[in-house]
Amino acid sequence: MDNITDLGGDVYEIDTRMAGYPGITAGYLILGDRPCLVETGTSTSAPVVRDALNTLGVGPRDLATVVVTHIHLDHAGGVGDIAEFFPEAEIVVHEKGARHLADPSRLMASARMVWGDKLDTLFGELSATEASRIRALGDTGSVDLGGGRTLRSHYSPGHAKHHVGLIDSHTGDLYVGDAAGVYLPQTGDLRPATPPPDFDLRTALDSIALFEALGPQRLLFSHYGPVTDVAGTLERSAEELRIWVDLTRQAHAEGMDLDHAVAMVRERTRERYAALEADDATAEQFELLSGAPSNVAGIMHWLDRVRP
Ligand SMILES: [Zn+2]
Repeated sequence: MDNITDLGGDVYEIDTRMAGYPGITAGYLILGDRPCLVETGTSTSAPVVRDALNTLGVGPRDLATVVVTHIHLDHAGGVGDIAEFFPEAEIVVHEKGARHLADPSRLMASARMVWGDKLDTLFGELSATEASRIRALGDTGSVDLGGGRTLRSHYSPGHAKHHVGLIDSHTGDLYVGDAAGVYLPQTGDLRPATPPPDFDLRTALDSIALFEALGPQRLLFSHYGPVTDVAGTLERSAEELRIWVDLTRQAHAEGMDLDHAVAMVRERTRERYAALEADDATAEQFELLSGAPSNVAGIMHWLDRVRP
């Protein structure tokens, strides 16, 4: 299938075809004695992911683990469906996200408030997973990949309070989720992902520093794909965060409303991103990945919280 890319080390990138688009959200399969899926993609992507796993030789009884970096619907919306397709799989998630996978009603209600009617076309409905199949991770944890290989999790809040990064003992691949921002392989652009309600600058920067300290060989972005310039990319992640926060802080201090703040930040950051000058499809894809309105709203929300 043309949505599977062999990344070496028994790791396969799967384009989940989020909302029908290519190149928006990746899931990753680590093959071995105990096959493990990292990120399910959305609920509407679940059949695409199941078919990709089958193509790679992972049948209904073969998947040992599903792990998600965090429970936002583009990463974990398909957990309930994938759990049903693969009844032996254990579902692994940070402890702050676990209860939402068992009972998604609150998560779905707040997502519906944010996205409105777009929710159905972009994500679909996260369905519940039996609590007995969910294993909650603390500050660190580990997933047995078989043959002595493990995936070690590290709590990495900032983008979301239930976010973990995961490092593969065999390859040194670090699954960064959204904690280092979103990366567009066509242009090499990197933009922060700072949505409401959890964004917090200090913890976000701490998580990037933690990632650096883990000494990964390669970063695997959920949006989108592998990056081998680890140090340069993580440095850029931190720099991008600071720029967006500084500009939004300025807008906030001037008393701008959200629309004006978004327009200002968009204008002042525009030249940083080649994607926005590329063809319309690429620009649209980039905007869908880390929309300026969502980023600025998340930073504004944080500024309101931290203000004395
Ligand atoms: Zn995401």
